[in-house]
Amino acid sequence: MKIDDKVAAAINTQINNELTSSYLYLAMSAWFETTPYAGFSQWMLKQSDEERMHAMKFFGYLNDRNGVVKLEAIAQPQISFSTPLEAFKLALQSEEKTTRQIHEIYSLASDTRDYETRHFLSWFLEEQVEEEKSAGDWVQKLELAGDHINALFNLDREAATRQDV
Ligand code: MG
Repeated sequence: MKIDDKVAAAINTQINNELTSSYLYLAMSAWFETTPYAGFSQWMLKQSDEERMHAMKFFGYLNDRNGVVKLEAIAQPQISFSTPLEAFKLALQSEEKTTRQIHEIYSLASDTRDYETRHFLSWFLEEQVEEEKSAGDWVQKLELAGDHINALFNLDREAATRQDV
């Protein structure tokens, strides 16, 4: 059954949202490259890849449902940050925003009785729980580390151990 036009439009918007998120994490990786925090830079690069994978899941789904993918411009992200904590706080805000965006599509899918899209989105609902937890954990650890250089470098080393997506 061909996807409803409104749901298709919402998924196109979400492809852009996910790529915007990927671009933000890429900008964070680039900024961390200008600091001694190589581990955080790697972590952000992997996160950027993960967001692109999310965009591609929506891309594939819309094609599978005979919708038409319409790519739009991606806005310039914030490119400079004062501290690792500022970057991860923005990451957490970004993930909370993504969760709200997924909720909006879920509501629309419910209103239009698009059970397939609701089912498809359940993966993203679970994923967002993980994404918010992950970003939130980094914010907590960085707040605890404060200005202590040894603690910050321990966290940077921990960030470097993140596995590929
Ligand atoms: Mg995502």
